[in-house]
Amino acid sequence: MNNYKVSSNKIINKNNSILYDAFNPNNISFLFEKIQQKLYKLLQDKTKKGIHCITPHELLNIALHLTDHKSGESIIERLNQIVDLHINTAIKVNSTGYMARQFSSVIPVSAIYDVVNSLCPQPASFYECGPLPNVADKIIAEKFAKFLGWENSNYGMISTSGASLANLTAVITARNNKYPNIWKKGNADQKNLVPTIAIGTDAHFSVSRIAGIIGLGQDNIILLPLNAQRQICIKQAKQILNKAHKNGKDIFCIIAAAGSTSIGAIDPLKELSELAIKYKAWFHVDAAHSGSFLVSDQLRNRVAGLTYADSFCLDAHKTLFVPAACTLLFYKNGDKTKHTFPIQASYVTEEFEDEITKFESGTKNFECTKRPSILNLWVVWSLYGQQFFATKLNLLVKTTFQAYKYLQTLDNFETLHKPESNILCFRYLPNEKKLSKEKLNYLQLKIRDKIRDEGRYFISKVDLDHITALRIVIMNHEISMDDIADLTKHIETAANSILKTF
Ligand SMILES: *Cc1c(COP(=O)(O)O)cnc(C)c1O
Repeated sequence: MNNYKVSSNKIINKNNSILYDAFNPNNISFLFEKIQQKLYKLLQDKTKKGIHCITPHELLNIALHLTDHKSGESIIERLNQIVDLHINTAIKVNSTGYMARQFSSVIPVSAIYDVVNSLCPQPASFYECGPLPNVADKIIAEKFAKFLGWENSNYGMISTSGASLANLTAVITARNNKYPNIWKKGNADQKNLVPTIAIGTDAHFSVSRIAGIIGLGQDNIILLPLNAQRQICIKQAKQILNKAHKNGKDIFCIIAAAGSTSIGAIDPLKELSELAIKYKAWFHVDAAHSGSFLVSDQLRNRVAGLTYADSFCLDAHKTLFVPAACTLLFYKNGDKTKHTFPIQASYVTEEFEDEITKFESGTKNFECTKRPSILNLWVVWSLYGQQFFATKLNLLVKTTFQAYKYLQTLDNFETLHKPESNILCFRYLPNEKKLSKEKLNYLQLKIRDKIRDEGRYFISKVDLDHITALRIVIMNHEISMDDIADLTKHIETAANSILKTF
């Protein structure tokens, strides 16, 4: 143990003990303590921090130096340096300066549980090796089924590593149910009909790629235009789908969003589900961002239409604040998942369903070895209860709305939408100068860059129909209106200095 603390790598190699040292519980406990001290400091740090941009070249050099450890430092010294480098280059999700992205400010106990997940693996696809995550899937599914009014139906839920994978899995389920021969023969047997999916023009890129991935072809995506609130416009959707149908397109899946990535818009879910019924299409909702509103009595109504979905996913690693990636994919009719991956592998699956195989998710999800990230969610639910998530979500949504109201009182700020979640897009409009559309867009971009370079705030930008906007996502419940006011002052100062160069 003493040796481990002070010895250089060379000495350990000489003793040929590196392997046993690495697994020595005393050494591990010692390393754990060191890391814990660093994490304590990290969580205590309340300074405003944006993002620390280091060039790939610079970072590669530092990391290479740590990899090749020619300096003869002890293991603990190098671990210290590696953890410091990790912390320094990570997004500052615990800072009130972080407002850029949908990554969580993570519930700490959920993160700590990751170590338990890793040191005592329960790979989540098959019950035999991962009994607890398979049970946790069922418990969490039942909670959500109640919010949806599905509790007495034959619903199903699997967890996946991310919404990208969940969206793909849902569309494969939709396709295989609509075209029973496609899994085996590779074609839809639809004579002159062309299998097609319909998505909103603001759909996440993981949705728009699906047609390419499953071999439908990107040309067989129907893009549904948006209304002024950037939700799918039902009136135009009806016309476009009708026309496509007449032109021989077989629309087998309509995909809506509940919480678009750009502004958090929620599509008219009930109306779209009715259109799906009309075309005998599957109705999937990408609710990665706002599906978690279901846990909140205050917010549930906003996503009430999820009850009409054939399937929908939600990202617990975004708006339920657990470590990535933890996504829940729900099916209104769990039997449909029998056709998602209709393949048998004798080394893991049984020919006949029994009490155990009915319980496990392996044949319904993409992954084989799968992190049991559902346990990160389940553990928080068990310790703090549903209301805990709701309280944090309510606060984030409230702060975002207050920020929207506040920006409207300022002369030089324009809000671009009424927020439906914790995402807000806005622009800085200088009143003293008349700028062309292009210059105004360029100004927003430069403001984002300058704010980022200052290192106090981290905000993002988004393009909405050729208009560049600044974007904030409130993920940290410690962000107050003082922080928003301070941010606007920094934006104003940044804009004024940029405008001098115009
Ligand atoms: C984040 C996001 C995704 C992608 O989810 P991952 O979990 O990052 O794979 C898909 N759709 C929407 C609406 C999102 O916000």
